[in-house]
Amino acid sequence: MQIDQDIVKTECYSKDGKIVDQWLHTQIYEGNPSTVEVDKSLGNGTNFRPDIVMIVLDSVSSTQARRSLPRTLSYLETQMGGMHFHHLNKVGENTSPNAYAMLLGWRIYSANRKAVNAKDLRPDHDKICSGWRDKDPVIFREYEKIGIPKFLLHWSCEASHDLPNPLYHTDQDYLNFFQKNKAILDNAFLFVMGDHGPRFGTPSKAELNKREINNPLLHISLPKFLRNHTQLIKNLQENSIRLLTQFDVHATLVDLLKVR
Ligand SMILES: [Zn+2]
Repeated sequence: MQIDQDIVKTECYSKDGKIVDQWLHTQIYEGNPSTVEVDKSLGNGTNFRPDIVMIVLDSVSSTQARRSLPRTLSYLETQMGGMHFHHLNKVGENTSPNAYAMLLGWRIYSANRKAVNAKDLRPDHDKICSGWRDKDPVIFREYEKIGIPKFLLHWSCEASHDLPNPLYHTDQDYLNFFQKNKAILDNAFLFVMGDHGPRFGTPSKAELNKREINNPLLHISLPKFLRNHTQLIKNLQENSIRLLTQFDVHATLVDLLKVR
């Protein structure tokens, strides 16, 4: 049976009508993608193609960022049209599987999908840490080929990898950075995100940590000239409350590659 939803709640009843079991099942429903036509006259002529800026905060979850970076996220949302994507789910335990998915669209582990009546998924690549990836289709190399003005990938570990609490101390610094560089970032697709949630320094049995470890931060700001695009904003708002993975982030980056 195929169910065209990401989240399915099941309940089993006894003969006298009492619930004897209930569970929430999750899957990624592969539906038809929506497409958006962008009026190029909205851009600034020859400099139509926006930059791509990705700031990855290692081990930072969605709700942790809400607690630790309130001024930064508030500024992105109120001054830069930022949108918070609440249900990004990691695809593997640590950095590697999530980075491969996000930057190459590659799966490095197999996946058993019998529970959702689908074929098992095989790894696209299983020799991680075995050489440079320069000749592989890493997403920023693909942007380089078409001459995107700038592709910035900043992957920060110091403030958040080993312990979750120091992230609080960076809120003002990140706010200052975005304020100082607003004019540049107004012509960019800006991704502020995690790769997975906090893995160290938290009570691993705490219910909140069990949820946060799977749910990395994803915050996207559009270039200024697209922030009033009705259909695009509607699509983003719908996706902001859907179950997503880093494969969706990669698919988005591939889509942006096609903007000409
Ligand atoms: Zn990581």
